[in-house]
Amino acid sequence: MKLIMLGAPGAGKGTQAKRIAAKYGIPHISTGDIFRANIKNGTELGKKAQTYMDQGLLVPDELVCDLVVDRIQQSDCEKGYVLDGFPRTIPQAEALTAALEKLGTGIDYAINVEVPDANILNRMGGRRACLGCGATYHVEFNPPKQEGVCDTCGAELVLRDDDKPETVQKRLDVYHEQTQPLIDYYTKAGKLAEVDGTKDMDDVFAAIVDLLGE
Ligand code: ADP
Ligand code: ADP
Ligand code: ZN
Repeated sequence: MKLIMLGAPGAGKGTQAKRIAAKYGIPHISTGDIFRANIKNGTELGKKAQTYMDQGLLVPDELVCDLVVDRIQQSDCEKGYVLDGFPRTIPQAEALTAALEKLGTGIDYAINVEVPDANILNRMGGRRACLGCGATYHVEFNPPKQEGVCDTCGAELVLRDDDKPETVQKRLDVYHEQTQPLIDYYTKAGKLAEVDGTKDMDDVFAAIVDLLGE
């Protein structure tokens, strides 16, 4: 099963992608997590990506596409994968389609998690991220057992710099301009599936399982 998660920053792509990965036994591939791990480890890629991420801008396509195309050819991706945060631009989508065509395959669904901007601003302020394992929490909607500590790995939870309100607005603008056109792209390809992301997390997941099958 090869899936793409589409949706605004904070729509719940990561939350749902993790559940999909666990239920269907496929890897969750988050380009945001890959960049954050590179920043933490001080790699060249991390240094390049950080200047864009801090401003709420997208990292240039050429830094993203090869990385994902390599990743999806690793052995753990044989049964499929769920891509979270990629593609984010039309050129990225075209690069993915071309790479998959070359491999004689294609994606099954692009799942669009639909949430209006007004709800997003509220969600992002409450998001807390674990830089240890990539887990995500929400102070109100999905709190960790102990405040400020990751349930899974015990590391400290942080408010990401790019989740501060001034940067969130910029990221939403970037989303509407550069990423939203992908909804049309995957509609035309006959791959788009929509879910209502304003529902609570369990209901959103139930809608996705309805689509993908038990
Ligand atoms: P969110 O899902 O909250 O938008 P992500 O963790 O997916 O956040 O992404 C954080 C940042 O990483 C983005 O704002 C962008 O700078 C960068 N990034 C992640 N994926 C991509 C991508 N496919 N193309 C360009 N930039 C990306
Ligand atoms: P994305 O990967 O699209 O940027 P996340 O999955 O990280 O989004 O979710 C953003 C924030 O909203 C997180 O704090 C998460 O716990 C919370 N969240 C996710 N889905 C829901 C939902 N259906 N209802 C309320 N809060 C949610
Ligand atoms: Zn953790």
